[in-house]
Amino acid sequence: MRRAVCPGSFDPIHNGHLEVIARAAGLFDEVIVAVSTNYAKKYMFSLGDRLDMARETLASLKGIVVEPVGDGLLAEYCRQRGVSAIVKGLRSSSDFDYELPMATMNRQLSGVETVFLPAEAHYLHLSSTLIKEVAGLGGSVSDYVPRSVHKRLLAGGSAPDQPPRG
Ligand code: ADP
Repeated sequence: MRRAVCPGSFDPIHNGHLEVIARAAGLFDEVIVAVSTNYAKKYMFSLGDRLDMARETLASLKGIVVEPVGDGLLAEYCRQRGVSAIVKGLRSSSDFDYELPMATMNRQLSGVETVFLPAEAHYLHLSSTLIKEVAGLGGSVSDYVPRSVHKRLLAGGSAPDQPPRG
């Protein structure tokens, strides 16, 4: 069983993410979409809503599991879950510069490989941040997000997550 992980905050999930996840599903037996929360960061959507949006939009694809990932080491998560590859979409050389040291570190820590997939040309410019900005200013982002995400963007965000105690 070849298992891969697509990690990210997915705040919210958009078509660029979906395209890379679908391609990963064609390469691996199982793809875990690991939705992360960094409690030092501010998200528009709660973890529960980010998980719901990912699950709703990926429901029709086979071999995909959506689950939360703690804020610990991704390399350790991969070791515990028997993940052989981390799949990342690359939009630009700055994505590559950012990802390369992490990929090397993850391989040295746990032997997990990182597979880079070039982003689809139509979605090269997409980031969750830009989508939230444009939607917040009243621009149409319906070409870039699934319908259920679009609805939520129009409705505004959700209440922030509380960090776990202790
Ligand atoms: P971050 O990890 O910076 O919060 P995201 O959660 O939005 O970023 O994205 C998770 C991963 O999805 C990124 O690391 C990248 O590999 C991939 N990704 C993001 N945007 C795109 C895009 N437009 N096309 C392809 N892949 C993308």
